[in-house]
Amino acid sequence: MDTRVFLARCDTYEQADSAVERVLDAFGGAAAILAGRKRVLVKPNLIMPKKPDAAATTHPAVVAAVCAAFVKAGADVAIIDSTGGPHSKAVLKMLYSRCGMEDAARQSGARLSYDTRSRTVETPDGRVIQKITLLAPVLGAELVVSVGKAKTHGMMSMTGCSKNLFGCVPGLGKPNLHRKYPNRKDFAGMLVDVCERINPGFSVLDGVWGMEGAGPTGGDPKHLRVIAGGFNPYAIDLAQCHLMGLRRDSVYSLAEAASRGLAPEAPEQLTWLGDDPEPLRTQFLPAIKHKKDAVPEILPNCAGCGDCARICPQKCIAIQDKKAVVDGDSCIRCYCCHEFCPAKAIMLG
Ligand code: SF4
Ligand code: SF4
Repeated sequence: MDTRVFLARCDTYEQADSAVERVLDAFGGAAAILAGRKRVLVKPNLIMPKKPDAAATTHPAVVAAVCAAFVKAGADVAIIDSTGGPHSKAVLKMLYSRCGMEDAARQSGARLSYDTRSRTVETPDGRVIQKITLLAPVLGAELVVSVGKAKTHGMMSMTGCSKNLFGCVPGLGKPNLHRKYPNRKDFAGMLVDVCERINPGFSVLDGVWGMEGAGPTGGDPKHLRVIAGGFNPYAIDLAQCHLMGLRRDSVYSLAEAASRGLAPEAPEQLTWLGDDPEPLRTQFLPAIKHKKDAVPEILPNCAGCGDCARICPQKCIAIQDKKAVVDGDSCIRCYCCHEFCPAKAIMLG
């Protein structure tokens, strides 16, 4: 198990180029990481079309810096992600534009991928799933680089570099997996199976500004002042958990990874490189402020847009008189609706 994590203090996104360069150099530089491979797929967290300053998505300055380093080292670099809604070229166009990826691609020489094909593959080492449908460009890449975002997460407590790869499940496949694995432990096991199947060759965390509270989309930006990276995405997740002041045992995917010997049990077992983590530590408000098993409650500011009804894996949300109504008996408490409501109109207990 590779326990190394490099931390580069980074107060503003204007410093992202030099921070990313420090991270990559600590592991030999982009050319050494490539080790002769050419086709690179950079996977940012673009959970929904939001502007970068909302801190819900990986900042374009970090994506551009990562892409530029691999382009300069001779790679053909493509950027791709998929939201929890339909996975189409039109949605990708809106997503890339809103999240600043068009600029990131232009500045770095990377391509934006509009290839919406997917493939179902086996997961030979899967503990929870034996087959998974993933974005074809991810499966066709020689090197996948996960560029995650430091955020709290209602169901999993936290999202970073390993959970970021769940975005490689195309569109509505994601709510379907929520329906199939409503239990948090099973869901975390599925996330680790997905990460292991994709097997990212390098990971970088955008923790310059993270998200606290109602993450992963409705929380508030919080200054964390760091870009982290390394070969082991779970090691970076553990470092992130430590820096955000979250309990390791509250992060289900980390517990699962540790039980498989993929992540250390505690931050003291990490090999910390770069800047001292202690001055960077802070306390993020946790995402799980609601009662366990709370049924989502619709607030008066619901605009009746229907996004929650479309994403709900149980189809237990209806729009009546231009307001969402939840059938609590059928709800599996996955909180996808809360995650995707653009109006922050869903409360969890
Ligand atoms: S997504 Fe939010 S605003 Fe839209 S219908 Fe659902 S609760 Fe209302
Ligand atoms: S109502 Fe919300 S929490 Fe319940 S199953 Fe649907 S999306 Fe999940």
